[in-house]
Amino acid sequence: MSGRTNVAPNDLSAFWMPFTANRQFKKNPRMFVGAKDMHYTTSDGRQVLDGTAGLWCCNAGHARPKIVEAVAKQAEELDYAPAFQMGHPKAFELANRLVDIAPDPMKHVFYTNSGSESVETALKMAIAYHRARGEGTRTRLIGRERGYHGVNFGGISVGGIVKNRMHFGQMLAGVDHLPHTHLPEQNAFTKGQPEHGATLADDLERICALHDPSTIAAVIVEPLAGSTGVLVPPKQYLERLRAICDKHGILLIFDEVITGFGRLGAPFAAQKFNVMPDMITTAKGLTNGVIPMGAVLTTAEIHDAFMDGPENLIELFHGYTYSGNPMACAAAIATLDTYRDEGLLERGTELASYWEDAAHSMRGLPHVTDVRNLGLIAGIELAPIEGQPTARAFEAFLRAYDKGILIRTTGDIIALSPPLVISKAEIDTLFGTLADVLRQLP
Ligand code: PLP
Repeated sequence: MSGRTNVAPNDLSAFWMPFTANRQFKKNPRMFVGAKDMHYTTSDGRQVLDGTAGLWCCNAGHARPKIVEAVAKQAEELDYAPAFQMGHPKAFELANRLVDIAPDPMKHVFYTNSGSESVETALKMAIAYHRARGEGTRTRLIGRERGYHGVNFGGISVGGIVKNRMHFGQMLAGVDHLPHTHLPEQNAFTKGQPEHGATLADDLERICALHDPSTIAAVIVEPLAGSTGVLVPPKQYLERLRAICDKHGILLIFDEVITGFGRLGAPFAAQKFNVMPDMITTAKGLTNGVIPMGAVLTTAEIHDAFMDGPENLIELFHGYTYSGNPMACAAAIATLDTYRDEGLLERGTELASYWEDAAHSMRGLPHVTDVRNLGLIAGIELAPIEGQPTARAFEAFLRAYDKGILIRTTGDIIALSPPLVISKAEIDTLFGTLADVLRQLP
């Protein structure tokens, strides 16, 4: 007989939770049962201020009426349509809407279901693009130390997080990495983009010399690295990467899964930094986190390179059952409507200096070794407890949760990225509570 009997309704054993200390969690679970605007409701009835937009995704806040309504309506109208050799209007409408807000060179949209899938899609497209143009030797992919590009094999190969890579074998062949740009000894407590580090981009020249540019398909970086602790790009760093890629015919992919949809005060980081990549990977804020969805934005040049063969043949042998799923499209269109109507894609700019001052007021509190920020994102780095890396920040996370704020930690870094609807008073609450937590931390 399949299934188990006598399972208590609150039995937590079956669900193997992702990126979670399962045994620790299940001894002392933290459960959300509701969410509205800036707050979560816990299973014990408390309100928790969302300092992380869920997982960097609920940029418009929670349970926003237009999105709720659009999803409910879509479920009745058209729940699913086959993604291959068939279409439905909202997939085309959404693609046009995305191109409208994207940086100018982005003209086409390929749908996925997550950031990880967007990354795999972009990496495959890059290799196939060169092959389509007769440069089939360009297969090498260049990532960066401390980069996070999701958890699939391509993403962990170009990614630079040791724990995400070390358990999973050899990964993709022909991958190399740029050095990361985290230089705390020179840049600690910088407000906005740091002064030092642009020359780290020049390492791409070394990599080109080592492998020969004719073997390199693409460079992928997060314009601002979120998941490894808010690493803001040094001034002129992205510009230099772009110039070296141009010089050697290498595609530049910006992984904007976090930075997309207003996080830095512009629709995309490419616009904020005024550096244009050849492809942008997105997910998260695309649907406000409500329905899983990702997208890869590409230039016409990339798209058109595939449009050469006989018209009756499939041009790109890639896609997902849920690519452009109608429910996800409805959620995304309503999300874009909400962003537009409430000016949320620019709100990060309006609030940036208030946010920056609040974040930097953490300087001088116990254990704080660095504060960095841009748009509506901040990283607060703590000195680790000797011999117990990550323990101090995790303790801060637990205490913050008890005090009614949701923060996120990575290593010994606290990352904050609230919904873009946050008020100044809520910014005060977030950092005021965090300051209390830091003062009492062992
Ligand atoms: N790329 C970046 C830059 C991310 O920050 C993330 C997730 O945090 C991903 C890719 C993976 O996205 P997902 O978890 O939706 O697969």
